[in-house]
Amino acid sequence: MPAKLEDGLLGMRSPMLDFETEYCDFCQEENGGVPKCVEVCPTEALVLPVGATAQSTIIGRAVIDQSTCLAYRDTGCRECYDACPYEAIELTDVSINPHPYVIEDKCNGCGACEFSCVSMKAGLLATTGATRRAITIQSVSAYN
Ligand code: SF4
Ligand code: SF4
Repeated sequence: MPAKLEDGLLGMRSPMLDFETEYCDFCQEENGGVPKCVEVCPTEALVLPVGATAQSTIIGRAVIDQSTCLAYRDTGCRECYDACPYEAIELTDVSINPHPYVIEDKCNGCGACEFSCVSMKAGLLATTGATRRAITIQSVSAYN
């Protein structure tokens, strides 16, 4: 989807990944490993570096908002942990209400966790005013 004005004037109308509707699998299983976005970009603004892998191609970083994450309310939720293809989410002590946390060095920002996060399905919107899921992908520049 295109970026909006609130995403920044300079980036307005540039394409954005919407991890609430899908996530990026880096076209690993199809298209010969060449991402479709790279293949179809008419201005060649997207380039896959030589030797790039899904692990080394960093789209962003996952960040958990503990104030809206169901696991931090001791519900036992671990949907994001189960969804992560890169083992970039770990759980605190599983014997006592495990909470997920992100291993920064392993996270490539694929968005599978945000796509799978159920926080907005559980009525949290009414109690916290949350407008986004509890785990979201942040741009690397915003994250650092
Ligand atoms: S974005 Fe989420 S699912 Fe993807 S690697 Fe990072 S923690 Fe795992
Ligand atoms: S799926 Fe969402 S609500 Fe559940 S543990 Fe992960 S971040 Fe928290």
